[in-house]
Amino acid sequence: MTRKELEDQLVHYSHQMHRMGWVANHDGNVSVCLSEDRFLITPTALSKATITRSQLIVVNAQSQVISGRHKPFSELALHLYVYRNREDVRVVMHSHAPYATGLAVSGQEVLPTMLPEAIVSLGERIPLIPYAAPKTPEWTMNLGPYMDDADACTLENHGVLSFGPDLETAYLRMELVEHLARIQCIAKQAGEVRTVPQEDVEKLLAARTKAGLGAAARTQAKVSQDLKATIEQTLRGVIAR
Ligand SMILES: [Zn+2]
Repeated sequence: MTRKELEDQLVHYSHQMHRMGWVANHDGNVSVCLSEDRFLITPTALSKATITRSQLIVVNAQSQVISGRHKPFSELALHLYVYRNREDVRVVMHSHAPYATGLAVSGQEVLPTMLPEAIVSLGERIPLIPYAAPKTPEWTMNLGPYMDDADACTLENHGVLSFGPDLETAYLRMELVEHLARIQCIAKQAGEVRTVPQEDVEKLLAARTKAGLGAAARTQAKVSQDLKATIEQTLRGVIAR
């Protein structure tokens, strides 16, 4: 994918977040990891409905602007925390999608265990990260215990984070979280929220691993990174000789 195509895609999904009603005012943000120290991101203080390619900015791992005339968003610390802890993640997306955020505000997790397909796609849990005031150390640190197993999470009194190897996957995960949250709210209104039996959850989690999702995706990313490092080291050795 060319840089222009990547920027076009980032703009497309920013607009899409607004179309879906997941953001209002200047809410929501998207980042793409270009390299270990470069991230293409949406700027702060602009509606996701009208973002253009020329408004995107590039920052480094210290949140400093490398190129572009706008400023980074405040939740960048959360995005960078995810990248530091997950070698398989290349895109992080954040919104205030109303059903998922509504459940997070009321202290409830969105339950993928309501639907068999959702367990394969998102695992057993979409963790609810405990509230912390923005920009405090706890704000990012609270994500820590959940980084191993989650592909999306909700943030208490805040919103939703989803992540993945590319823009489409991160977007579809956000979409699924919000769709599940909506189903959960309807089920609760209609009666009881029932989840699938635990023995089936185990089978579906095995199917998730077989599909290369969850921990399997991280192992794959780690193997390919280790392989890349070994190749680079070998090449350096050959050049030195
Ligand atoms: Zn937010």
